[in-house]
Order: sequence, then C-alpha cells, then structure tokens
Amino acid sequence: MLVRFFSTAAKSVLTPTGLLCCSITLWLGTAGIGVAMLLGSRADAYDRAVQNASNLTLVLERDIQRSIELYDLSLRAVAEGAADPGLMSLTPKLRHQALFDRAATARYLGPITVLNSKGDLLVSSDDAPMKRNERTNWTSLPDHSSVTDSGLYISRPYVSTAAGNTLVIALARRITRPDGASVGTVVGRLDVDYYHDLLDGLSIGPGGTVAVFETDGTLIARLPYDRGMVGRSLAKTAVFGRIMTGTQGAFAGTASIDGVRRLYVYRRLAGLPMVVEVAPAMSEVFADWWSRARWFAMLMTVFTAVKGAGTWMLVTQLRQRQRTEAALRRMAQRDALTGLDNRGTLDKIMATEWRRARRKGAPLSLLFIDIDNFKAYNDCYGHQAGDEALKAVAQSVSTSITRPCDHVARYGGEEFVVVLPETGTAGALCVAERVRRAIEDLQVEHVKSPFGYVTVSIGVSTTGAPGTVDVRTLVKAADEAVYVAKGMGRNRVCAGRHHDAQPVSSSADSPLTQGVIDMHDAAPAGTANQATRHAAPARNADLIPG
Ligand code: GH3
Ligand code: MG
Ligand code: MG
Repeated sequence: MLVRFFSTAAKSVLTPTGLLCCSITLWLGTAGIGVAMLLGSRADAYDRAVQNASNLTLVLERDIQRSIELYDLSLRAVAEGAADPGLMSLTPKLRHQALFDRAATARYLGPITVLNSKGDLLVSSDDAPMKRNERTNWTSLPDHSSVTDSGLYISRPYVSTAAGNTLVIALARRITRPDGASVGTVVGRLDVDYYHDLLDGLSIGPGGTVAVFETDGTLIARLPYDRGMVGRSLAKTAVFGRIMTGTQGAFAGTASIDGVRRLYVYRRLAGLPMVVEVAPAMSEVFADWWSRARWFAMLMTVFTAVKGAGTWMLVTQLRQRQRTEAALRRMAQRDALTGLDNRGTLDKIMATEWRRARRKGAPLSLLFIDIDNFKAYNDCYGHQAGDEALKAVAQSVSTSITRPCDHVARYGGEEFVVVLPETGTAGALCVAERVRRAIEDLQVEHVKSPFGYVTVSIGVSTTGAPGTVDVRTLVKAADEAVYVAKGMGRNRVCAGRHHDAQPVSSSADSPLTQGVIDMHDAAPAGTANQATRHAAPARNADLIPG
C-alpha cells in the first residue's frame, strides 16, 4: 500500500510539470523559512534596541531624580525656616546659619535665595545673590502664583547673569506659614551643564540622540549637544506629541529637527515635569540586520540561479526522454511500413473489445483482409513496388473505416484485420464490401491478377456464431472465411462458416456491393446473403458454395 503510494507519487513527480512544481515548492519553502527567520531577527533587533534604550532612560531618570530631590530637600528646609517669623527676625548672621545650614552645595547647584511675597530679595545663601532683574528672565515665573503650595516649580532654561551668563534652570518652592498664608518664595538654580555632562559620553551610535525635555516641550539638553537648541520648544512637533501620550513607551518616528528616522524610547520622570528620551537611529537599530538580510538575498539569488538552471536542465532532459519514450512506444505499437497498429497492439485491442462485447452483450465483428496474388505481384513488380502497394492498400482500408471505435491493424505479411465493435454480421459485410471496393477502386495495376488490378479477399466473422468462444476462434473463423473467398475466386467478401448464415460471397458486380450503404447494421446478414446469391453474376456464381 505504502509502496504503491510512493511509486504513484514518484511517477507524478517525475514529469516536467511535477518537477517544476516540486522545484517551485522547494524554492518557496526555502525562501519562506529564510524570510520568516529574517523577520524574526528584525523583530529581535527592534526589541533589543528598545530594551537597551529603555534601560538607559531608567538610569538617566534615576540620576536626574536623585540630583533634583537632593536640591529640593534643601529648598524645603529653607522654606520651612523662612516661614518661621522668629527665625527671620534673628540677626543676619544667625539667620543665615539657621536657614542655610542644611542647604546642599555641589557642582551644578546654585545658591538658594529667599524672596518675599513681592519678589524682593530677603536673604541668599551666597554673597552674590540672584539679582532682581534676573528673576524677570524667568519667563515661566512671572509672579509667585506660578509657584504652587504643593509642588516644586521648575523653570525653563534661561541665561543667568548671576551665574556668569550660563544656562540654568530655576527651582522654586513657596514659603507657606503654618496658618496657610504665603509669605514668599525659595529659589535655587541648577546649571544646565549638569544635563549636558550627564548625557555627554553616552554612545548610541551615529544619528542617535538622547534628550531631556520639560513636559511643556522645552528642550533642556540634547546629545549631540547644540547650545542653540536648549530652551527651544518642541511642543508642536509630531514626535513630542506622541511622547506626551504616555508615561513611557517606544515608537518609530522622524525628527523634525534633522529629518532622521529614529526609534524613540521615552520615559516621564516620576514626580517631575520632565521627560527623558533615548532615540537611536533606525539605520543603526537595523544595521546588523540589514547586513544579514543582504547576505540572505545574495545567497538566495545564487541558490535561485543554481536551482533554476538545474531545474531547467532536468525538465529539458525529462521532456526529451518523454518524447523519446513516447516515440518508442508509438514505434512499438505501430507497423513500420504501413503506420497501422501492429500485431501486438491488435491482440490487446481484440482482447479489450472481446471483454467489452461480453460485458455489454453486444456483437463484435472482425474483417480479415488478404491481398490477392500478392506473391505474384512481388515477383512481377519487385518487393519495393510490393511495399508501395501494401501502403496504398493499408491507407485505403484506414480511410474506409470511419467509426472512431473501429480499429485497423496489419496482421502480418499482406494481411490486415479490422475490428468492428458493436457490429453484427450484416453491418460487418457492408464495411467489408466498402473496403474491398475501395481497394479495387485504387486500380493498382496487377497484370498477373485475373482482375488486372490489386484486389483483396475479405473474411468476416462475428461473435455469437457457433464455435466463436474466444478471440482466437473469432480470428480463426474470419481467416477461414478468407480461404473460402479465395476458393471462390478472390476479390470478394465471405462471412465465416461458423455463423448461422450460410457462407456467402460478394464481388464487384453483386447487388450487395452495388447496394452498400454507409451503415454497419444496414440489413440482416441472411437477407443480404440471399440477395447476393440470387443476383451474383455468372463470373462469381459458380464460386458461391452450397
Ligand atoms: P493469395 O491470393 O492466395 O493470398 O496469394 P498470395 O500470393 O497473396 O499469398 P502468399 O501467402 O502465397 O504470398 C504472400 C506474399 O506476400 C509473400 C510475400 O512475398 C508477400 N509479402 C508479405 N509481406 C510483405 C511485405 O512486407 N512486403 C512485400 N513487398 N511483400 C510482402
Ligand atoms: Mg496471406
Ligand atoms: Mg495473399
């Protein structure tokens, strides 16, 4: 069962179409696996880049938060002290000590200043306090109401004259008395260089950026560094719009600043109005992947070329082989001289038609055609002329047989057989007469024949006649009928002796011949035979037995 399945499969594959289909399927499979792997590795590259950038945003968030929290703790301590009227009424030296004792001082952190509710300078941790006009630079801090009770206020970056014209960010807290009244503001400043130095040295590949924004879109710091960009609002850009849709995330977008497509990974700083963004260039994210993809494409091209050439050669070879095999098969089935089916093919056809006739209960007839005096023809005209005559007779027999289910074959030598399925004796006699007459009409000269032309004698046998129990006996009956026809003078048709009907003959002059109609079962054999016998010309009458 399995063996049969495999042999059937192998047979259907080993055809040009099967081979082509297999080759295409194999190619599609290989390409499909390759593309699936490439897509998988592309997704991996993307995920890896998101993860790396996300880790970096987390580290940056923690550093910024820690720095600002430390400074905010100082601001809170000063605000608490400044809210105490007793402490504020101390001598300047004591007040300075009490207020700024716990204030943090570190690189990037400016002095802490206490302003009253009108914005006038009360006290500063530094000898060079924030100048009054500097406060007017705080575009985001036009009055104290901007500094709310609850939170730390962070200004936009601005140039501080007090800090030597450097870019700073002001951090402020309101001073609130225990009864809730606001009595002023504590202000400190953070040098923007802190962010710059924080980002400086990070490596995220060519075209990548790292940036710190305020949540209103103001750029605080950006790598690669561009001082002109600091303080610029990017609130209206598409990238910032997307960043503001969540607290953290990743997306691919094109920067409005330089038009580079990047993978933006962002994180809003918890508790602070800031966003950190790490954005490697997409070309960097997929750089390795692209080189792998190029390799794959190259290998695929080579594979396709080799496979295509191999398949083409195989298909061509297979086609050639099939054509040769078909030609050999045809040659094995055909008679080389006449082009008719040969004896082997005839045996198969007869066996098949015999079985079909038995299954259907339909008659089956045979015509056995033998050329008259052919040895004499060869002797007289030579074998080559004999061959030509054989071909002419074969052609004539073929064209006389019009039904597609009828078969003509060369039985051997100068003998032919016609198989007539679903044809009774009367019909077979009609066909035989048509064949005989067609050959006679060829008028192939034969001086050694009493008729002057090449003629044939035809024996007819039909199933159902006594003795025709198998194909062999059916052929034998037709063969015997030929002998009868020969004995009766040749150039005539004779039904087999085994048949119910009496052996009959017809010749060119018989009414049967003259009255032939192009139907196989034109008339009952007996009737036709009777008419033949009565109307046969004198030349043939003596040849009709019994
Ligand atoms: P009859 O009328 O009794 O059939 O006489 P006949 O001479 O036709 O019969 P016979 O069996 O004596 O001779 C048949 C001849 O057919 C012998 C042979 O030379 C010739 N023949 C058979 N096959 C071929 C062939 O392929 N080519 C040629 N040229 N002649 C062939
Ligand atoms: Mg013969
Ligand atoms: Mg003969």
